[in-house]
Amino acid sequence: MTEKSLTDLFDERLAEVRQRIAEAAKASGRTEQDITLLAAVKTVEPERINHAISAGITYIGDNRVQELKAKESFLLPGVHKHMIGHLQTNKVKDCIGRVEMIESVGSLHLAEEISRQAVAHGTVMDILAEVNLANETTKTGFSLAELDKALEKTAELPGVRLRGLMAIPPAGLTDAENCRYFSQMYELFIDIKQKNRDNRVVDTLSMGMSDTYESAIRCGATLVRLGTVLFGSRNYNQ
Ligand SMILES: *Cc1c(COP(=O)(O)O)cnc(C)c1O
Repeated sequence: MTEKSLTDLFDERLAEVRQRIAEAAKASGRTEQDITLLAAVKTVEPERINHAISAGITYIGDNRVQELKAKESFLLPGVHKHMIGHLQTNKVKDCIGRVEMIESVGSLHLAEEISRQAVAHGTVMDILAEVNLANETTKTGFSLAELDKALEKTAELPGVRLRGLMAIPPAGLTDAENCRYFSQMYELFIDIKQKNRDNRVVDTLSMGMSDTYESAIRCGATLVRLGTVLFGSRNYNQ
């Protein structure tokens, strides 16, 4: 018995994930092409990320801009980069020109700083509003109560373009609870799409991780962020 190489293992996992994405998309009247697969690459070394890119991964997301900065010169060109982790305002300027989208915008204060920095650099940053539907105190994100008003204010910021919503459900939910959570997110997303007055492109609903992505897609996710199911479990001690 030969040990499988990490790259073979990745290729197998990716094939299975793609298959599952296609099935879940079909269950929601869509196709695999309607779903963006983003590889969550925190703690993953550049060599493995590059293998993923050469295997067809076109979007990667990192949690810390410092980590992305350290890796980026080693990465194959052309891959779309998103920031998906909690972002401090003093790190915003490092994101400008480095990532195409900041998914984890959970406060108006952060949106304002992104807008300010983007304007200063003559650009506009795509963002998602992170929603904290379950009002978890350990998590950032807009509560349901503040979301509408915050999005109205965000729409007035010249340096950001709101492209949709992002969510991380509480850990340890049952399938049924996850499904309810994702469906609620989808309703919010549709609501925001319909209120979209000034030709903003609201097209992204980012939800679903390794253990929940099929459910998320069945409930309307347009983007899933996958780490473990592609790369195996993370080693935080390197
Ligand atoms: C790590 C991470 C993911 C991927 O999580 P897995 O369970 O490993 O798929 C997705 N989204 C965010 C915001 C993350 O931090």
